[in-house]
Amino acid sequence: MKIDRRGLLLAGLLAPAAAFAEQFAGKYQPQAQPIGEGIWMVRGADEAIGFANGGAIANSAIIATDAGAVLFDPGVSREHGLALGALAQRLTGKPVGRVYISHLHPDHAMGAAAFDPAIIHALPATRAELERDGEGFSDAMYRLLADWMKGTAVVLPQGDLAGGSTQFGGRPFRLLALKGHSGGDLAMIDERTATLVTGDLVFHDRAPSTPHASLPDWRASLGVLAGLPHKVLVPGHGPLDRDGSAIAQTRDWLDWVEQSLHKAVVDGLDMSEAGDLPIPARFAALKAARYELQRSVSHFYPRLEAELLPKL
Ligand SMILES: [Zn+2]
Repeated sequence: MKIDRRGLLLAGLLAPAAAFAEQFAGKYQPQAQPIGEGIWMVRGADEAIGFANGGAIANSAIIATDAGAVLFDPGVSREHGLALGALAQRLTGKPVGRVYISHLHPDHAMGAAAFDPAIIHALPATRAELERDGEGFSDAMYRLLADWMKGTAVVLPQGDLAGGSTQFGGRPFRLLALKGHSGGDLAMIDERTATLVTGDLVFHDRAPSTPHASLPDWRASLGVLAGLPHKVLVPGHGPLDRDGSAIAQTRDWLDWVEQSLHKAVVDGLDMSEAGDLPIPARFAALKAARYELQRSVSHFYPRLEAELLPKL
């Protein structure tokens, strides 16, 4: 009997990821959503990084200016950055003239490989973290994403950013030098449209990830963002926030995770039990909630145990 690929798939013997890769032949196909005059949001998949999505899980923003498009977060790989750059050129009629990297995480940063380092700008803290962790992230991404990563090298930003008002190509922006999701988190307001672009300081209907988080710093940064008048918010992951709820939702999740893990340690739960804690119904809309809770357990639990458990 001949068993073809389709037969194997139907029998559940091939992973769906393999089917996806074959179907899409490894091409990134970012889609833009217009959100204001000369500004577009590009949505990532609300999933963990995996071969099936090519690592294209982070949101980006594209903004038209007289000096070329601004690309806020260039994606996960060289091919992803090239696809976002081509999309920006189609939308704005100009090539990308400025790339901002919000923070060190590979889903936001490694697509910088598609661009001239001279146009890549980030906070000094982000460049330092990329110097520290970039090669390790690169190894991890090549293992996970294989061919999607071809030609991707770690590119360090050459432009140092500071917070404050600025402009590029005649378009005014306000840059915010924050931290807490990582050691350096850039957010930005497009003044012309009052759009707040937050990187991973804000997640929306997608559970926040915490591998480099400092929760007190993150809360302080959320407080800053909440105090900035804006019409819409482009989060690092998840859909556009039009009603101002995403900042509070991010804070609520972080508070819940911290309190729950603190209690779990005091109650004597082990890490796998803590990762299985029930997730409250108010977080039912958050994608990847169980996954991120379990990641947060692995990041935070050893330190919490060291702090909270009696020394025997
Ligand atoms: Zn991140």
